[in-house]
Amino acid sequence: MKKTIIVAALAAVATNLALAQTTTKNVEVTIDGVTGFQDTPMQPDGKWHTHDPARPQPPIVTPGASFSENAAPPADAIVLFDGKDVSDWTDRKGNPAPWSVVDGAMVSAKTDIVSKQEFGDVQLHLEFREPTPPMDSGQGRGNSGVFFMDKYEVQVLDCYSNKTYADGATGGLYGQHPPLANPCRPPGEWQTYDIIFTVPHFGANGEVITPAYATVIFNGVMVQNHQAFRGPTGWKNPGKYYPHAATGPLGLQYHNNSVSFRNIWVRPLPVVNDP
Ligand code: MG
Repeated sequence: MKKTIIVAALAAVATNLALAQTTTKNVEVTIDGVTGFQDTPMQPDGKWHTHDPARPQPPIVTPGASFSENAAPPADAIVLFDGKDVSDWTDRKGNPAPWSVVDGAMVSAKTDIVSKQEFGDVQLHLEFREPTPPMDSGQGRGNSGVFFMDKYEVQVLDCYSNKTYADGATGGLYGQHPPLANPCRPPGEWQTYDIIFTVPHFGANGEVITPAYATVIFNGVMVQNHQAFRGPTGWKNPGKYYPHAATGPLGLQYHNNSVSFRNIWVRPLPVVNDP
């Protein structure tokens, strides 16, 4: 009896602690037109908070007139969206993806979606288009994201004439690594992502042997150069690894904005970089 009461009391304390942690309010600050936080956990570099508005903005680079728009998938690619339907995707509960298909593009709505197939190392091509006229600002403008293994986000955002904290800019490894440049096209224009992602490798005791990496070419401009993730990405979270399966679905984020996607294909890559 006594034991039950003690266990119940401990459980209540744990719940309250968890609640206290999840309800801690961080205070938004705006510096030079960028809104973010300076009371969030520090990045391991010791210089910047997660989503720090003072972290330098990526330099704007006007992309070339075209790069890989409408790139035809190679023969061995797995096409995840060919303009017709969203049958290769579900919500996280396995229900049909609630995104609509409009003029050959799938448009984010209601919830995140994940691919039915799981992948490890991949080459990904996709194209996205930000809504026009642009609404809201910062992280509220055209927010979506590409989640490798449904854990590691390469940010999708409308950063054309829209400042946000650097580690959340388009092409950023969200909350961790800002893009090396800002080659955003204006909203309403199709933009391309060509991304190489390699999975993390864990040892027998769950230790990280090699982290996950992403190389991101955005509108023909390299914005991540074989950059390591510090763990799964998250809001106000600098990243921390935990061991997980060797494959996972590709995820696309719904973040209260209608972002369009087209021409999505992947090439699963053979693992050649085992340590
Ligand atoms: Mg996002």
